[in-house]
Amino acid sequence: MPKSRKTPAKAPSRGLDEQLARLGLVRDQDLVLHLPLRYEDHTRIVPLRDLQTGVDQQAEGVVVNTDIRYRPRRQLVSLLEEDGDEGRGRAQLVLRFFHFYPSQQKALAPGKRVRVYGEVREGHFGREIVHPQFKVVEPGAALPDRLTPVYPTTAGLPQETLRKVIARALAADADLVSDSLPEWLVGRERLWKFPDAVHFLHAPPPRLSRLAQQALGDRTHPAWTRLKFDELVAQQLSLKAHRKARAARRAAVLTGTGTLTAALLARVPFELTRAQQRVWREIGHDLKRAIPMQRLLQGDVGSGKTIIAALAALQTIESGRQVAFMAPTEILAEQHYRKLAQWLAGLPVQIAWLTGGMGAKARKKALAAIESGEAMFAIGTHALFEDEVQLTRLGLAIVDEQHRFGVAQRLKLRGKAMGEAHQLMMSATPIPRTLAMTFYADLDVSVIDEMPPGRTPVATRLVNNKRRAEVIERVRRACVEGRQAYWVCPLIEESEKLELQTAVALHAELTTVLGKVGSETTFADAQPATDAMKIGSDTTFSEVRASAAHSGSDKVVSDPTFAISVGLLHGRMKSDEKAAVMADFVAGKIQVLVATTVIEVGVDVPNASVMAIEHAERFGLAQLHQLRGRVGRGAAESTCYLLFEEPLTDTAKARLKVIFENTDGFEIARQDLVIRGPGEFLGAKQSGVPLLRFADLEKDVALIEKARDAADELIAKDPAAAAAHLERWLGGREEFFKA
Ligand code: ADP
Ligand code: MG
Repeated sequence: MPKSRKTPAKAPSRGLDEQLARLGLVRDQDLVLHLPLRYEDHTRIVPLRDLQTGVDQQAEGVVVNTDIRYRPRRQLVSLLEEDGDEGRGRAQLVLRFFHFYPSQQKALAPGKRVRVYGEVREGHFGREIVHPQFKVVEPGAALPDRLTPVYPTTAGLPQETLRKVIARALAADADLVSDSLPEWLVGRERLWKFPDAVHFLHAPPPRLSRLAQQALGDRTHPAWTRLKFDELVAQQLSLKAHRKARAARRAAVLTGTGTLTAALLARVPFELTRAQQRVWREIGHDLKRAIPMQRLLQGDVGSGKTIIAALAALQTIESGRQVAFMAPTEILAEQHYRKLAQWLAGLPVQIAWLTGGMGAKARKKALAAIESGEAMFAIGTHALFEDEVQLTRLGLAIVDEQHRFGVAQRLKLRGKAMGEAHQLMMSATPIPRTLAMTFYADLDVSVIDEMPPGRTPVATRLVNNKRRAEVIERVRRACVEGRQAYWVCPLIEESEKLELQTAVALHAELTTVLGKVGSETTFADAQPATDAMKIGSDTTFSEVRASAAHSGSDKVVSDPTFAISVGLLHGRMKSDEKAAVMADFVAGKIQVLVATTVIEVGVDVPNASVMAIEHAERFGLAQLHQLRGRVGRGAAESTCYLLFEEPLTDTAKARLKVIFENTDGFEIARQDLVIRGPGEFLGAKQSGVPLLRFADLEKDVALIEKARDAADELIAKDPAAAAAHLERWLGGREEFFKA
């Protein structure tokens, strides 16, 4: 059985411990599980005359001379020669260092024998290695008999040190490398034994077959499979433990009376779709159970999740419990507040709303209403989950657009902040299957797989920014026809300030061209807007051109007396300013809304039919899908213009192609996972926590399925082994496994 020990076998040194901790290496067990990225072959020496260019090799020679040269730039150059082959014309090798220490110059003194490792290339003066690894040796110095591991490391922690502490940990205690899975499982799954796999991966034998080498490199070697399997089993065990703990908790039974929910259904101007009815049944049923619900409501942008949240909230309130409804942005929280206030007007439900940006007085009032229970329904941003908010009778917590919250925030929500309340998470971003089997495995999922009737699909156009004038003209036309438009500012991740400036500039530009009463249109000569731009496999972006003229576009239909009002919305505005602009847009007083991505999620203004996204190449796929989903909510035909600027990176091209070719959120999310990897999906990149270290959620699907079954069996047949296995793998990282 592996045991966890705090006493390290490694030499104690504060600096070293800190550096190791930065890599998540705290216990000796962690060192054993810290596996190499790749290997170097130091087991043999290639004679200088046999060195091949373009490959990493180890060679040995005697220093002839070592000098600092200054041309073309300062560098240390050392010439090595093969010794003992006089008469045959001595083979030579040049070592070249552009960065070096005096100590290195000193070490490479003439007459010294050095062993060097690196990639050989053909230089002006023969073969050379730039920045080789090297060490001074005695003739006949022993060679290692295993490949040399190269580990993931951190600044200031040399490979040599890491190799030493890991080798020491491997030798320190047999328990650390003992098999934590029972024989019957290892045998049945035809897995390598754990000790064999670990020793192999830390120190593989040299001269592996090409196939084995390749398998080692792409982590499909049986030794890797064993480690991945173990990691996945640990993760599954952790999830199951979490689920069991949840089942043991007691939540309020929210039976409801049906009065408020019936009243709501009677007053909304639509019938629930069949999919909505189904998910509402699932959620309503969960709320009546004493086990805290943990359900994810998934439905594409515009599928109608809000009404389901409202129904769940009302059943809770009917049962005498409070509801907290949290949205990731103030704008969205405000919109939910308005919509629910409208839906519930006249019903005996008081709503309090709370965000970080609100004034002290309003805040105090809201807090008091929540604490007294006068307000049974609290709507807001994550401000709702701060300690001073006393939701003493909390029965249900609803998290909208849950994928927008980082891993750390989600953990906080699942932890103390929500106590024993039922939880309903909502997301338009579907969970890829492998994530559903792993990180989200302890969630129940309800899916709205049907759109409300009467929606018109959004047409997507890719437009080179050089042709933005045409897009402006389209916006003008939509406004003249009584529609509204969004114009989304470029995302500037590095600088919020710059993003703000850009937003202001864009607002000024659009106000000037669209806003003036009686202005002569400057687009009389505009080319017809491009209606059908295709990116075929054989079409490059630079070739994307107008391929069809829009009928009627020859007469530019701007009514010169029609002034278009352009509003601006950005993250730096005060809450009430934002709210006022949004309200004007909802009321139609503003026709064009220039906005940063604060509008990305959830905003619902059915009259808006044009979405223009500036520098669309900078946005992620999920964002683009969300933004596009802001239009196409009414009966009018809607268009999303993705303005891009060249040159485009390959990733940007790939993203734009996906968004252009797909409207289905599930497919987009799937492709997104391929382009970006699951880490980003989980938001782990933002919070800086590592995911699964070895298993690959895209490539190891079959292994994930096996691990899931194995975890079930292990719990049933050998709970002690399950516990030991979990302890080995999780250490302090348990929280993360259920993010
Ligand atoms: P999302 O799932 O993206 O959060 P919303 O809940 O904002 O979508 O719903 C989008 C729009 O569709 C809203 O205006 C909402 O009132 C409307 N809606 C919801 N359900 C239906 C339905 N069954 N029939 C017609 N319209 C609906
Ligand atoms: Mg929504």
